[in-house]
Amino acid sequence: MIVDIDNFQSLNIAQGRAYGDTILKKVATTLDAHTRYPTEIYRLESDLFAINLINKNKDDIENFYNELKIDLNGTCNISAGAVNYSNCGTTNGEEIYMYAKSALKKAKKNEKNQLVFFSNDEYKKDLESSELLDEIKECINSNFEHFSIEYQPQIDSKDFSIYGVEALLRYDSPSKGRIAPLKFIPLLEATKLICPVGEWVLKKAVAQCKEWRKHIPNLHISVNLSYIQLEQENITNTVLNILEEAELPGSALTLELTENMQLQNYSYFNKIFYMWNKNGIRISIDDFGTGYSNLSYLKLLNINEIKIDKCFVDHIQHNAYNFRLLKNMIELAHTTNIDVCCEGVEIIEELMILQELNADLLQGYLFYKPCTVYDFEQYYINEESESYHKRQEKEEHMRQLNPVGNKELLENFRNEEIKNIIDSMDEIVYVSDIDTYELYYINAAGRRITGVYDYTGAKCYQVLQGKDKPCEFCTNSKLSKNKFLVWENENKFLKSHLILKDKLISWKNKIARVEFAFDITKKEITTQTIQEKLNLNRSIVDSCKILSSENDINQSIRSVLKIIGDFCESDHTYILTSCEDGSLSNLSWEWYNENKYSIKSLLSIDSNRNFAENDDKTTMKITRNNKILGLIVVDNPKHKEKIDDFLETIAHFIGYALEAEETKKTLNSCLIQNNN
Ligand code: C2E
Ligand code: CA
Ligand code: CA
Repeated sequence: MIVDIDNFQSLNIAQGRAYGDTILKKVATTLDAHTRYPTEIYRLESDLFAINLINKNKDDIENFYNELKIDLNGTCNISAGAVNYSNCGTTNGEEIYMYAKSALKKAKKNEKNQLVFFSNDEYKKDLESSELLDEIKECINSNFEHFSIEYQPQIDSKDFSIYGVEALLRYDSPSKGRIAPLKFIPLLEATKLICPVGEWVLKKAVAQCKEWRKHIPNLHISVNLSYIQLEQENITNTVLNILEEAELPGSALTLELTENMQLQNYSYFNKIFYMWNKNGIRISIDDFGTGYSNLSYLKLLNINEIKIDKCFVDHIQHNAYNFRLLKNMIELAHTTNIDVCCEGVEIIEELMILQELNADLLQGYLFYKPCTVYDFEQYYINEESESYHKRQEKEEHMRQLNPVGNKELLENFRNEEIKNIIDSMDEIVYVSDIDTYELYYINAAGRRITGVYDYTGAKCYQVLQGKDKPCEFCTNSKLSKNKFLVWENENKFLKSHLILKDKLISWKNKIARVEFAFDITKKEITTQTIQEKLNLNRSIVDSCKILSSENDINQSIRSVLKIIGDFCESDHTYILTSCEDGSLSNLSWEWYNENKYSIKSLLSIDSNRNFAENDDKTTMKITRNNKILGLIVVDNPKHKEKIDDFLETIAHFIGYALEAEETKKTLNSCLIQNNN
């Protein structure tokens, strides 16, 4: 492990060398205090220390570093780089030391005051990048040697003629061969070297376009512009000047900016875009759909084109989700006057779908790969060349394919899409033969509820009704092609209450029945519970009304008992009050279900019967000021578990009424007495 004191030089300068020396001593003694034999400590140069930690693992090293930090807190911060030399790929001391230094460099480069472990993979990448960067710098200095540009055609989707070309930068390293742009462009951006290189690309591309316009009069050129370039102060004029020097009109140029670029600062960019737009230059948003922006956000910017990324185009003919997404993107773009270029078109099937979706421009290997100036000229300019003729034939072929091939493909595609939609529906959908009852198709909801996943050869009545012969209520004979038959079925086999809609359709050259079944079982349960709640509230309100407006308490309590009895669907509901011995056994008021009790049996109810005998009953005490006034008893109630709250509320009102009655009585007798 190598340890380095953060900002030691500035400490030395600011506080003097003597102070620097005390810090060095403090670090040395702290290191010493935390190590034991066989660990060895070295002072390398200036403020650099090395510690050889033997037989220690990663956790040990981390702990060691954290302890040092705690002890040095208030003295100085330290950064450290560590290398596990048992598995770093070398036994050479010099190399191990270099690795540790590289890890330390990382620690210092990040936020300092931290420990970084050496990683072989990262080291290799860093080394390659820095070697590559050194090479690239040399090339830039020798007049962009080993840099070149390839051009990829952009096709007008209406007639497959060429609309323009995109300039794509290439770098052929003298030592490593061709390097992918995705590898070297980030390096150029990180070092801002993209500015001179980008300017070089623009100059070359614009000049090339000017040249080709002699043969292809309205050829356009698209050039990629990095956000680093866009941040340059004089970028607006740099671009305009290059066009002017090349004597190319602005309308020939499209600048492609990547979508994930930080374009939040609208007003800044709009000023630039406005100046360019004024000169005819078009602005395109590259890799559209892969970043954070959306079309509504783009409306805030002056954009002329979006380039839809290859990932949305890939296998679009099999991907209903991307199809809808792309359809929406293109339609939305068109409503805001933004053109759409689709990238990465590789196969004819993709092209057919994009045609249908009205993409304006197309680009991809299907038309032509990015190519050299020579290849491009052979393909598009040199009428004698073989590839020129091949291209003409290909274009002609595509034009002819258009109307016919398209239809069948789209038909398949639509069927696929419809199948996806039907499979995602909650309703059961199936198709069956009207004569043989063979089940031709059943959607995912149907497969789920029936549990039948392989229905080949099965009959509809087997799968849907669990029967071994056609249903007696089969509606096949009543169906027509132009109107749905709507009916209802309590399906015991599927334990569902279904509303069904059926009609006849053509199915693979036969007449078949299609049925949509809506399962309303759940909805019924919900409506039932809502209805119950409404009943409950109404019963409570009615009870209150009666108790407060009826003068005769006996009459009103009996009415309330009827309400309770009706609500609970009880046989017999009554109120017991205290006898003289204090027990709750005095049958004071009662209500009975006339359908269940005959007058005779009622007459035989005797007030002394043992009420505890009947188990299936619910009771609720009537209390007032902690005094029990009575007990409501409900025999054989329905929903026993749900009526407690209801009874409690009503018991409360009855208690109140009983108390009021009592007060009325005492007041009366008092008044009578006084009167006497
Ligand atoms: P991009 O601007 O999105 O360029 C399109 C990329 O897709 C190019 O990759 C092109 O070769 C590739 N491509 C085109 N058609 C097809 C296809 O049908 N199938 C497949 N699989 N790929 C296709 P390339 O040339 O590797 O460029 C990569 C990226 O490098 C470009 O993506 C662009 O962001 C950047 N780049 C290239 N040249 C320049 C430049 O001059 N300046 C800046 N700033 N960036 C550049
Ligand atoms: Ca591009
Ligand atoms: Ca792109």
